Amino acid sequence: MSRAGLRFWSAVLAFAVFMVDVLTPLEGAVAVLYVVAVLLAARTNRRNDIIIAAAGCIVLTLSAYLTSHGLQTIASPALRALVSLAAIGITTLLVLQNHAAHSALVQSEQRYRRMFDATRIGVVEEDWSGLRAALDSLPSRGADLRDYLARHPDFIRHARGLARIVDVNPALQKMAGASSSAAFIENVDKLLGENDRSFLDALVAFAQGERFHEGETELVRLDGRKVPVLFTITFSPRFGGDHDVLVFVVDITERKQAQDALLAAQAELAHAARVATLGELSASIAHEVNQPLAAIVTSGEAGLRWLRRDVPDLKEVATTIGHVVAQGRRASEVVTRIRTFLKKASPQKDVLLIGEIIDEATALVARELAKDDVALIVETEPDLSPVRGDRIQLQQVLVNLLINAGQALSGRPGSRTITLRVSTANSETLAITVQDSGPGIHPDDLPRLFDPFFTTKDGGMGMGLAICRTTVEAHGGRLSVASTPGSGATFHLTLPFSQEHALP
Ligand code: ADP
Repeated sequence: MSRAGLRFWSAVLAFAVFMVDVLTPLEGAVAVLYVVAVLLAARTNRRNDIIIAAAGCIVLTLSAYLTSHGLQTIASPALRALVSLAAIGITTLLVLQNHAAHSALVQSEQRYRRMFDATRIGVVEEDWSGLRAALDSLPSRGADLRDYLARHPDFIRHARGLARIVDVNPALQKMAGASSSAAFIENVDKLLGENDRSFLDALVAFAQGERFHEGETELVRLDGRKVPVLFTITFSPRFGGDHDVLVFVVDITERKQAQDALLAAQAELAHAARVATLGELSASIAHEVNQPLAAIVTSGEAGLRWLRRDVPDLKEVATTIGHVVAQGRRASEVVTRIRTFLKKASPQKDVLLIGEIIDEATALVARELAKDDVALIVETEPDLSPVRGDRIQLQQVLVNLLINAGQALSGRPGSRTITLRVSTANSETLAITVQDSGPGIHPDDLPRLFDPFFTTKDGGMGMGLAICRTTVEAHGGRLSVASTPGSGATFHLTLPFSQEHALP
């Protein structure tokens, strides 16, 4: 009934009671019914209506009494009138108290509603009472529950369907790409991705009676796109509070993007730093090896001079040769020191898909090979398990082998082909071969090929293969070469598969 209607019927009732009171011989007994008029007015939820109705009823009670009995005191009707007045008074007080409590509740509800509607945080009201029943029916509880749930993905799927969505706020509708809350899904199943692990943790927290649970997952929008989110679930501590589970969700797409950009920048920086280190390394090699070499030349020349004398001074010659040997040892120590340094540089240990590394490495050498008209054939076994290691270092090993093969083919008549094969050698090892149709390697050079500074190229440094082998060995693999002069060289590389097969 509308407010005006309630006011009208309250007034009609009060007037009717008054008429009955005045016109019948009930002598005030009916006046107690004014209470109903006050209660009726109270339903408008307006404080003023209650006070006006109460005041009106009191006036009518007194008027009826005065009309019927005047001012003389008549014990029994006066008592009845007093009882009626007391009933009206007490009812009014109670109704006013109730009204104050109700107003506070309405205000708090409005405040909550405003927060619910206006906040930028997504809020989902859920009913988990069905979930409680399902969890209670499980044979496992307490500490074993997590294990049990991990072994029963069917139950998790079923449970996702039991977490009923009661309401969602506009921020969550926007996050999920829904036009209205009516377009919304009735349970959380569709909101969570196939690979979601967060619901299992939330279930365990819920079963163990925790008040809050926080986590990170991906929310699947209605258009199928995934949004990375952080969420907090608050479980109500009240008995029967399972109907009232609140989930607060924050979209962290931008944070994730910034994080990814940061990681990419860090990787580039690491690469740049490594390139710079190699540059510095070559400069210091040149510097440190140059000194003993210059000393060797000086001592050698001095020795020659002592030898060329009319009477050669063999003692001096022996001393100068001693210098030559000492300086030669120094140069060799420099080289050993560099090798040890390179061995010590421990690689990153990421879980990597070899296919991606090969794609990146071949992309890097594509221009160089095209320049020499070299064809690159890549044969990769499907579904290779991941390996563990440093993405950039492994990429550099492949780049080095491909560039060497390209250089061996450069300017050669006939077909210029490099074949890169990737396969599973055994359950623990990945095998990569880089085969070229170049001139091959002279048998005398084969044993020295991986020695630092061994090169047959003008302007070559001879560090490439040495670094490649050190890198591969630091990854727990091996790098070797086989060659038949005239029919090309084949480099064999093995890497152990990662023990953790799950990719992040
Ligand atoms: P650099 O390229 O500076 O010479 P490397 O250590 O990469 O240093 O190579 C050492 C030597 O190994 C090369 O100078 C070359 O003689 C030989 N070599 C490497 N790869 C091949 C190949 N695919 N075919 C023939 N010879 C090769």
